[in-house]
Amino acid sequence: MDHIVRNATDSRGHVVLKHQIACLFKEAISFGATSSAIVSSKEIQSKDSLAALCNGEYTCPNYGLAAGCPPNVEGPDEFRKWQAQSNYSITVKIELPTSVMFSAERKGVMQLLHQIVAAVEQKAIEAGFKNAKGFAGGSCKELFCEDQEKCCVLAENKPCRHIESARPSMSGFGVDVIALMKASGWSAPIAEKSMLSDKDATSWVAGLIMLA
Ligand code: SF4
Repeated sequence: MDHIVRNATDSRGHVVLKHQIACLFKEAISFGATSSAIVSSKEIQSKDSLAALCNGEYTCPNYGLAAGCPPNVEGPDEFRKWQAQSNYSITVKIELPTSVMFSAERKGVMQLLHQIVAAVEQKAIEAGFKNAKGFAGGSCKELFCEDQEKCCVLAENKPCRHIESARPSMSGFGVDVIALMKASGWSAPIAEKSMLSDKDATSWVAGLIMLA
């Protein structure tokens, strides 16, 4: 970690000790992540072209259905402003057999990813990073409110039903997840075609907590 974290300041400009950041990344493991890493926030790439895929040639079936999905999230422009205010970020990864990615168990894994990201975000806020922001993967509507007709944030301007767990997807902010994995020191995912032909392969899902 020493080669990455040279100094860090919280939202009030106070110096945060390296070991506090190290604690956050250990928390991710204790909450259920397979791996966690600390990356320089400058290494995160947010691309308009990736965010546009949510409503591109093939529109995501969850597009517009939740407060955590486009066009209801701030998107790449705002993400890059947050990024400019952040020195370090924590990445988390859950590894799983590829066969699970294509099974009914996938939903539980994705829910766990959101829960880990939200829990580390909360720990970061408690550690002094008051503007910490967590990003997961997959639509919270599908993962947490599938049995609800509508997202209550959008439909009724009420607080999120799962505020303690659900976080927006990195997709809506155009985060280049492949680049993020590489910045974390993790190998890039195998191609979907290979996943389908090799059910014993290991796949993963990932999340991000930006510290500020
Ligand atoms: S209420 Fe449900 S759909 Fe709306 S933001 Fe929260 S988890 Fe997502």
